[in-house]
Parts: sequence; C-alpha cells; structure tokens
Amino acid sequence: MSIAEPILLTPGPLTTSARTRRAMLVDWGSWDERFNQLTASLCTQLLAIVNGADSHHCVPLQGSGTFAVEAAIGTLVPRDGKVLVLINGAYGKRLAKICEVLGRDFSTFETAEDEPTTAADVERLLLADPSISHVALIHCETSTGILNPLPEIAQVVARHGKRLIIDAMSSFGALPIDAREIAFDALIAASGKCLEGVPGMGFVFARKESLAQAAGNAHSLAMDLHDQHAYMAKTGQWRFTPPTHVVAALHEALLQYNEEGGLPARLARYSDNCQALLQGMGELGLRSFLPAAIQAPIIVTFHAPQDPRYQFKDFYERVKAKGFILYPGKLTQVETFRVGCIGHVDRAGMQAAVAAVAQVLREMEVLDI
Ligand SMILES: *Cc1c(COP(=O)(O)O)cnc(C)c1O
Repeated sequence: MSIAEPILLTPGPLTTSARTRRAMLVDWGSWDERFNQLTASLCTQLLAIVNGADSHHCVPLQGSGTFAVEAAIGTLVPRDGKVLVLINGAYGKRLAKICEVLGRDFSTFETAEDEPTTAADVERLLLADPSISHVALIHCETSTGILNPLPEIAQVVARHGKRLIIDAMSSFGALPIDAREIAFDALIAASGKCLEGVPGMGFVFARKESLAQAAGNAHSLAMDLHDQHAYMAKTGQWRFTPPTHVVAALHEALLQYNEEGGLPARLARYSDNCQALLQGMGELGLRSFLPAAIQAPIIVTFHAPQDPRYQFKDFYERVKAKGFILYPGKLTQVETFRVGCIGHVDRAGMQAAVAAVAQVLREMEVLDI
C-alpha cells in the first residue's frame, strides 16, 4: 500500500475498486445511444434496490449529494408547503438551511446528537401544527453515524396524510429501505457513498404522482427534477451535460454490488467492518460516542484521547502517512474523530487501520502500550 493510493475511511468520497476506476477510461458522448442505455440501466437498477419501480421514478442529477437534496425540496415541496425538519446533526441543519434559502416555510425539531428522533415526537409535532405538509428526515446522520427510526417515523407521517422526504445519502444501498412498505415522496442518495461509485451525481426516487404534480414548483432551472425527468423520459438523455465518467463508474460499481450479493452482502460487509473497528479501537481504549443500539454500520465517531499530547491534525497526518485517511469530528461539545466503515474495504483493511492508529498513538506517546 502506498501513499499514492491511501485507503479512505471517510463517508464519501470513499475507497473505490480498481475496476470501478478503470470504467472511467472511456470517453462517452452524451448523444451516444450506448451512453443513454447506461443511464437507463442505472436508473432501473437503482429503483430495484428499493423495490420502487411501480411507485417511483429515479431522477438522476449532476452534482454532489446536496444538489440532489436541494433539488428534491425545491421540486417536490410546493411554494405554499411547510416542511418539518428533524435534526440531530449537521446534515439535518443543512436541510433546514436549504428550506430557508429556497424560501420554503419550515419548522425544526432538534434532539441531541446522540438521541434519535422518535415517532412519538413526530406524532406530537404533526398534531400541534396542521400546516405542516412535508416531514424531512436524515436516515443515517453522517455527522455522528446515528440511525434514525425510519420505518416508525414513516408510519406516523403516512397516518397523518403528510409527505416524507428522506435523506438516505449515507445509508442507501447498505441499509434496507423498501418503497412498498415505507411511504415516501422523495428518497435522496448519491453515487459516491454505499454504492462505492465516484462522487459527481445524486439521484432522487420521486413518487410518480408527486413528481407529476410538481411542474412549476422549482425556483431554479438547473435544479428542477420535474423538468429533468420529463426531458429524460422523452429523449433518453440528460437535460444538460451529463457526468459521463461518473455514470460509467457507477454502472460498473453496481455490477460489482450485484455480484457481491446486493444489499444483504453490502450490509454484512459494512457491519463486519464496523465490528472489527469498534473492537480494535476498544482494545486501544478509544471509546465510541454512540451506544451500539443506535450506531449505524456506516461511520463511527470516537472520543479523542484525553491527553494533552493528542492533536487531531498531527494524528491525522501520521495515520495518513501509514496509508489511511480518517475524518475529523463534527461535534461542537466534545472532541471526536470519525472513521468510516464504507467503501471498497473489508475487515482486514479495518484491522490494518486500527494497527496504524495504535502505532501512531504510541509514537505520539498518547498510548503507553
Ligand atoms: C454525504 C451526505 C450528503 C451530501 O453531501 P455532499 O457533500 O453534498 O455530497 C447529504 N446528507 C448526508 C446524510 C450525507 O451523508
């Protein structure tokens, strides 16, 4: 392993396979029939992961994941709608910020970063404010790795006749979500997370009826998913220049996803990665921020060592020199760092990362083992 090819233990961009990267060595024309087939095949395969072919359209969009979240809110929430944003971390806050910038009325409900939103909270909030039309939820809040109870919340939202918007960016493809059981207007994810593609495009599973009614909602030309979908349905092409290499890489990544055994296999590998990580770090005396019951096998937040010789920047650089890229913490109250469990990496890779962390902490004289 060389520094030129570090293992990214970060929640996107993440480590991809050589096969996925090789798929980017071909230049595609956006008018090329074969490229259009690639896009169509991609959308079909993505919809299959959530069993959404009957109920939802898959609308891909150029850009990072946030672009797709913003496009989903702007397109699917009518201008006179009101969004209840459920927050327990930075991505929930970002979603509220999107509503604010787009001028959509919204209210927020915030719990602590180690406290999932509950269905009972949502029930109470919906009863208290009948003007809420949509509820927006982060499935796995990547700023800590906490898992919010999606099925229970979706049930309450549906029972009240409200619409659900799910940011499943860091969970889609690894944690099961079935569109036949969970009612949602939009579920948003992206190429460069659990599907192990490269970053550069997001996609939104939009409920067919809701998308059909969304003409004219969007505040923006480029972020209009109704238009994007209508154009693609008519021509088979992306509305504006497609991220051709990203599409080709994601297509190749999906082939590998299915060869590996699809979602159950991906979840099993990430869960095993997470276990190996928690166990190894635990043996070094590093404690995880979240209790196991609410920890998603996506990314783990660790308390920083309580030692004046520990500095994240120094720690990060030393671990990087050994071939592993960690992620800074995102909490305001406590000092933490994060390690991703996702990407083209397995148990042996996680154990090697833990060994590198151990060596570094010894070098820094933070560990006396
Ligand atoms: C990665 C991520 C996003 C999108 O972030 P970008 O930096 O725009 O790709 C949104 N929500 C969650 C929960 C994420 O993990």
